[in-house]
Amino acid sequence: MLPSDGRFGSGPSKIRQAQLDYLSDAGAQLMGTSHRQAPVRDLVASIQDGIRTLYSVPDDYEIVLGNGGATAFWDIATACLIEKRAAFGSFGSFSAKFAASAASAPFLDAPVVFSGDYGTYKLPEATEGVDTYAWAHNETSTGVLAPVHRIAGADSDALMLVDGTSAAAGTYIDVSEVDAYYFSPQKGFGSDGGLWIAILSPAAIERAARIEKAAGDFVGDSNDSGNDNANTRAQRWIPPFLSLTSAVKNSRKNQTLNTPAIATLILMKNQIDWIISQGGLPWTARHCAQSAEIIYNWAEHSDYCKPFVLDRDARSTVVVTVDLDDNLAAADIIKQARANGIVDIAGYRGLGRNQLRIGVFPSVDTADVQKLTQCIDDIVESLR
Ligand SMILES: *Cc1c(COP(=O)(O)O)cnc(C)c1O
Repeated sequence: MLPSDGRFGSGPSKIRQAQLDYLSDAGAQLMGTSHRQAPVRDLVASIQDGIRTLYSVPDDYEIVLGNGGATAFWDIATACLIEKRAAFGSFGSFSAKFAASAASAPFLDAPVVFSGDYGTYKLPEATEGVDTYAWAHNETSTGVLAPVHRIAGADSDALMLVDGTSAAAGTYIDVSEVDAYYFSPQKGFGSDGGLWIAILSPAAIERAARIEKAAGDFVGDSNDSGNDNANTRAQRWIPPFLSLTSAVKNSRKNQTLNTPAIATLILMKNQIDWIISQGGLPWTARHCAQSAEIIYNWAEHSDYCKPFVLDRDARSTVVVTVDLDDNLAAADIIKQARANGIVDIAGYRGLGRNQLRIGVFPSVDTADVQKLTQCIDDIVESLR
């Protein structure tokens, strides 16, 4: 009765055997070779092209990448994209972390944070003086999928930064609605961790260039107190590693600022090729939604668990959360599951709920999701 593959993590997530075969086969030639030479640069280019294809990326947008995962991109955006003040939608651990990063920057005004309860979403609202709006597309900690569109009423040059980390690959968005759609590869793209990838608008690239130039000029002219913000905001410091402009320059040459994990790139390329061959994001979106629906439907009819997210429109189609009755401990179910090879179905630690969380990314077979629900029923039966 076990699923053919027991990996249901929400990141790192299942890597298909075909990807691993590709890594040890065609990809093996590239392992241990320079990321500045044509073979690895071609690999990076094929990932960039693949993302363009998947998202029908407008010609003037760029696919930029670097090391450090989505977490690094929060600090890059804080350093190089927020001009003075950002507004955040905060409705779970990941969306809260970016807001916290911006709040800690002494050269920015305190952000405006629009908070939503766990299990719901809250988009930032148009606010005077705000030049950057940010939220997570899929809040991986709670299993909530938020809309992605420009914030109505925002200044026309305000940037929209959307964290697509767990949504990317399993859902579709209209990229022209955002200025940065960024993600790590170890979730929907079923690769390994370590990288961030961002689809950037010309406005975002131009904003970073302007802010970075101003910060550099300021350093070179530090005795000049003519900066009108000097009294209220600290001088901006952009660590070279966090320079978005450096990342853009390197990405235009199909490289990263510093050495990337080549295996992560190889696994990513194979996944993108696979997704395109299956029919692209319309296919993955349908596939993931089907898998998710099996769990929501099962939980709704179960006598011991129920979907955590009440609003059907907010329910994630890639990360599904279910709350358990108080008389059942999630930890007991998770332990038995793991003893049988079913792993990583625990809820997000920081949320502290008696909950299961199941990643149903494109790589996960729908038939396995069905079997998982039967296995959980069986475990619960034995625990009772
Ligand atoms: C996992 C995740 C992150 C963090 O990704 P890292 O690669 O660990 O930096 C950020 N945002 C969301 C929505 C995530 O799911």
